[in-house]
Amino acid sequence: MQTLQAVLDEIVAEMSAQADRGEVATYIPQLGKIDPGKFGIAVVLNDGSSAVAGDAEEPFSVQSISKVFTLALALGRVGDSLWNRVGREPSGTPFNSIVQLEREEGIPRNPFINAGAIVVSDILLAGHQPREAIGEILSFVRTVADDDTIVIDADVANSERVTGYRNFALANYLKGFGNLHHAPEMTLGVYFHHCAIAMSCLQLANAGRFLASAGMVPSTGHTVVSSERARRVNALMLTCGHYDGSGEFAFRVGIPGKSGVGGGILAIVPGVASIAVWSPGLNARGNSMLGSIALEQLTRRMNWSIFSSRSA
Ligand code: GLU
Repeated sequence: MQTLQAVLDEIVAEMSAQADRGEVATYIPQLGKIDPGKFGIAVVLNDGSSAVAGDAEEPFSVQSISKVFTLALALGRVGDSLWNRVGREPSGTPFNSIVQLEREEGIPRNPFINAGAIVVSDILLAGHQPREAIGEILSFVRTVADDDTIVIDADVANSERVTGYRNFALANYLKGFGNLHHAPEMTLGVYFHHCAIAMSCLQLANAGRFLASAGMVPSTGHTVVSSERARRVNALMLTCGHYDGSGEFAFRVGIPGKSGVGGGILAIVPGVASIAVWSPGLNARGNSMLGSIALEQLTRRMNWSIFSSRSA
């Protein structure tokens, strides 16, 4: 069998030959100017070893991938009462859709669509100033990644605010239904900042390790969430992590994953590995085009799909 490093090198070579790389998000200038030719991948195994290839050490905007970390943090804060305000079902709708919110009376389908993540930000804001809540989220990400160099890109956060009309609409709508406890601009301040966290593939794969190792950060030995909670976050990533492309991702890749509009995907092989891939061009569903293809290749070659028969 090929080594993991050889598989990653092969995938990088294959991806560099792809002509159709999708469309880079252009709703803010900071994302619109990213070179669509970039591609990076990092895999951190539960035994502590890692392999990287391509642009794996270049930071990018993690965007909605940050929703995995805010969910884990908010569950730690308020426990299962979070589920009184957010559902756990796939939405089948785009990340910023407002339609379902009206029909379901202000309870977002899941914590990974924007409306759900805005409610999670609102939960994290309780008892804090936005600055403190943002600091707490960044510090959680640094803790799970065991890396104090991770930062928030202030220009991205500011651009998100300036162009965030749909997110303001969602927040106001949630407020109208009584499912936002703070002023929309305060809650969105937290939301825009966590979306603006920048990480490289290697940093992101490190940050995801606790989900692959039953809630524990292997490099420090600290348990940050219970194993049951890690398992449940993984379940939500599988069913809801790619918006209306979640079924297709489960079908093709077969592991929990969370995408971001910056072109990153965090994917977890429970008990085995945490993986991050980055390719800025997006497919029609707003998920990284080559990132999804690369993960499909990786899980196939390593036999990592959670739906594979282990004896095969
Ligand atoms: N900041 C983006 C938004 O709220 C995140 C979307 C995404 O990554 O899918 O529109």
